[in-house]
Amino acid sequence: MTDTLAIGQYTDIDAQALRQDFDALFIAGWDGLDSLSEDQRAAVRAAAYKGHAPFGGAQMDRLPNLRLIANFGVGYDAIDVAAATARGITVTNTPDVLNDDVADLAVGMLIAQVRGFEAAARTVRNGDWAAKGDLPLGRKMSGRKIGILGMGRIGREIADRLAAFKSEIHYQSRSPKDTPGWTYHADPVDLARAVDDIVIAIVGGTETQNYVNADVLAALGPDGVIVNIARGTVIDEAALIAALENGTIRAAALDVFQGEPAVDPRLAKLDNLFPLPHIGSATVETRAAMGALQRRNLRAGLDGDRPHTPVN
Ligand code: NAP
Repeated sequence: MTDTLAIGQYTDIDAQALRQDFDALFIAGWDGLDSLSEDQRAAVRAAAYKGHAPFGGAQMDRLPNLRLIANFGVGYDAIDVAAATARGITVTNTPDVLNDDVADLAVGMLIAQVRGFEAAARTVRNGDWAAKGDLPLGRKMSGRKIGILGMGRIGREIADRLAAFKSEIHYQSRSPKDTPGWTYHADPVDLARAVDDIVIAIVGGTETQNYVNADVLAALGPDGVIVNIARGTVIDEAALIAALENGTIRAAALDVFQGEPAVDPRLAKLDNLFPLPHIGSATVETRAAMGALQRRNLRAGLDGDRPHTPVN
């Protein structure tokens, strides 16, 4: 009986590797646990997890011999790490291998909104360019003052890229970092007041819920653009909708949403929102690297070694 349970939707390549290297048993989601026998659940020592549905103590208790949860993704806010630790379960994630993709996407989203790409593309496609002439002018991207909310691994990559756009970089983290002279702010409202645009790269979870609230949006002001590649939970979406509707800020670009993949229809229909369906790490190269790191963690955990990238 296999000791590895793969939970979630895997690409064919990852599924094949999990089958070949671990003889993994697959379930698409938590409903699938009901289809396993008690013996099958008791045999599971490692779970390869891919998804955003909560993985809490209740699910862990149905796998009584679980010792490792190898998450596919760097963000592990769906997993109750305290509950795992209390049960002697190690949790791992896939940091660093996705930094470039997520940072590239964040910069692309910011430029798209500062220069107004979506409206500009629409005017070509629908014939308005020929019928109505040129669009109103966009804003200059190079040299804008950018605030990075969360100077972690991905935040740093975003800042490095934007520095090449002659941006003055400001950031907010819980402590100052070693940077090439970038300006530190302890408070997100102070950060928002000091910059033109904000890119959010903090972790999700209960501690950062609604971190970007109406006060931050008001402090950013009517020329400001907000980009979020972190988690939907870190923005107060009701406050964001109001800010986009009444011009408190100019525009937003979101790769992540509260309750995704369902998106609040009020948000989805706003012309000054550029929405993407959580594609931060969604490239062939990076997803392959994430799968490989997940499997390296599984192997180490099952062999009784310290996994490569533990979070507890
Ligand atoms: P990281 O290196 O751990 O950085 C996380 C940042 O969050 C740090 O700046 C940290 O602040 C801050 N932070 C952590 N806990 C906090 C708290 N309680 N209050 C305030 N700030 C807090 O993580 P990363 O690898 O850069 O990834 C960041 C996040 O991006 C992930 O957690 C994930 O949710 C998201 N992500 C999204 C995608 C996507 O597809 N859109 C892909 C990958 C990752 P300090 O610097 O003070 O420690």
